Amino acid sequence: MELSTLQELIRATYGTQDRARGVDATFGWFIEEVGELSRAIRREGHDERVVEFTDVLAWLVSLADLCEVDLAAEVVARYGTGCPKCQAAPCVCGVHDPARP
Ligand SMILES: [Zn+2]
Repeated sequence: MELSTLQELIRATYGTQDRARGVDATFGWFIEEVGELSRAIRREGHDERVVEFTDVLAWLVSLADLCEVDLAAEVVARYGTGCPKCQAAPCVCGVHDPARP
């Protein structure tokens, strides 16, 4: 599934509820899901991690849609040529260097 199709599906599924809840409360739900993903990565198995990754992505897409961000277009614009800082793939600038503080 394309990211743009996912955003359309999430809007069709949750858009009315998301708009009624608003950006701030939706952001709160997104952060709660990130916390659940953190626990799943550290303490749970693959199946639980899959659920939390998909929930985080769904809430992120909801939030982007509420903020009128076209995620597919914007992620391609930012990452479509590689690292947004050095434009290389693989990155050569070290922005994701594990030794970086
Ligand atoms: Zn880079």
